Amino acid sequence: MSDLKGKKIFVTGGSRGIGSSIVKILAKKGATVAFTYSSREDSAAQLLSELLSLDSGAGHFYLQMDLAKEESVKSVVEQVLTKFIDIDGVVNNAGITKDGLLLRMKTEDFDSVIQTNLRGGFLVTKGFLKPMLKARKGSIVNITSVIGQTGNAGQANYAASKAGTEAFSKSIALEVASRNIRVNCIAPGFIATEMTQTLSEDVRKQILSKIPLERIAEPEEVAYAAAFLLSDESKYMTGQTLSVNGGMYMG
Ligand code: NDP
Repeated sequence: MSDLKGKKIFVTGGSRGIGSSIVKILAKKGATVAFTYSSREDSAAQLLSELLSLDSGAGHFYLQMDLAKEESVKSVVEQVLTKFIDIDGVVNNAGITKDGLLLRMKTEDFDSVIQTNLRGGFLVTKGFLKPMLKARKGSIVNITSVIGQTGNAGQANYAASKAGTEAFSKSIALEVASRNIRVNCIAPGFIATEMTQTLSEDVRKQILSKIPLERIAEPEEVAYAAAFLLSDESKYMTGQTLSVNGGMYMG
């Protein structure tokens, strides 16, 4: 299933949570993976040592990147392309939340979520598109959210960034389909990572009551969907959003 042998794939925010699972699953399926961290180099180093013990070889590496800074993204793209000239896939996974009800939301909190999640994905995608266009191959996977599909009180900035990413992805899918490049999204529901750990017990119960499968998902469950979209098994899919949400939203 979802063989990724020989594929070179770049993942943002691989140091923990969903990104870390994506990196592990891709490497287990035979891909060589470059991934980024923002502040936690220790987690990135720990993950790399796990990867190096796999059969997929010693080509994996990580770099520091701040998605909110254009220079940082440009420099990472350049460095990745020196090793992955014929890059096969990109996963725009890294993302942040800065929640608050709108009347209390600071302009800088709105801006930083849009800048990191939406503009950051734009910069990464733009950076890797040129070599993909030249090679006439590529699969880009953008991690959005169920919140971008339904909206959520207290997350107007985050919801806008994720809905924006979905619309962005469909537009790029149309621009590059004729060159055999596919662009798809995965919209996770409620996944057990640090991003969701801080929620109160009450909020957790409220969310659980809205999930038909009656449980929170593990990050691997998103990673398998990413592996599928990066593999040739999904080669007739573009401009789509795969929902991995336990039935929380049926769009
Ligand atoms: P985590 O908060 O657990 O991890 C976030 C990752 O992004 C880390 O690797 C972090 O690096 C990196 N990161 C943080 N800020 C920046 C930045 N400014 N520039 C570059 N990288 C950065 O998140 P999750 O794993 O939970 O989420 C991953 C993606 O999935 C996000 O896009 C999120 O919106 C989406 N998602 C998550 C859901 C969930 O329930 N968890 C549900 C729906 C969508 P470092 O470790 O160095 O800090």
